[in-house]
Amino acid sequence: MQLRKTDAVVIHRVDFGESDLIVTLYTADLGKVKGIAKGAKRSKRRFVNNLQPFSYIRIVFSEGRGGLIRLDEADMIQPFFRISEDISKVLYGSYFLEMVKEMTGEKESNPQLFDLLVTFLTLLNGSPPREEYPRVFELRFLDLLGYRPRVTECSICNQQLPLAEGESAWFSFRHGGAVCKECHINAQGAVAISGETLQVMEQAMRMDLAKLEGIRFSPQVLTEGREILPRFVQHQLGKGLKSLRVMEEVQGG
Ligand SMILES: [Zn+2]
Repeated sequence: MQLRKTDAVVIHRVDFGESDLIVTLYTADLGKVKGIAKGAKRSKRRFVNNLQPFSYIRIVFSEGRGGLIRLDEADMIQPFFRISEDISKVLYGSYFLEMVKEMTGEKESNPQLFDLLVTFLTLLNGSPPREEYPRVFELRFLDLLGYRPRVTECSICNQQLPLAEGESAWFSFRHGGAVCKECHINAQGAVAISGETLQVMEQAMRMDLAKLEGIRFSPQVLTEGREILPRFVQHQLGKGLKSLRVMEEVQGG
């Protein structure tokens, strides 16, 4: 059987039988794949503890049966173990993993999405958690999957929107982005959004991700972002995300 190699982030793992593990991975070459690690629970030799969620690993694998790949080796590149030391980091990180797990198709390669995930896990691992991180991740992730929200022009009539402090517009989940004051009556369920937030969203979609650590949003942008973006993600997915429910419970309590 032909052996292949790729880099991967562990998204999810479940026990399978007495001694095996089934893992969901997001890989650099193949996108999302499910794999079986034979004997991973019984013999720690080959996989050690390298198949924990968040781990960034290099795998050797072969195509298996039923769409599963068969893992032969998993070498650690970066365990991102500092994520598990902080509840906010775990919440944000779990949200990133769940978005990738739920919103990407199996074996649909997207190397930019792989890089995005590794970039944000590196950031969470190495710096204090900031609410700006999930907001920027949502926008970049949606963009890479073809769900980029429209923020500079009205999603209905295409006229330019006022992107400045003191200006305002509406955001329509159904229309996939912002709508102008005239059109919002035709956009049921649209919510108010400030020009400042639209401007920040536009910048977040094209900013250099190396500058992410220093990024700071105003309280108003944070509040509007928190109300709009997770809802927009779930609207695109067509269902709720568990990690967001947990986040709301923890942060609300
Ligand atoms: Zn309009």
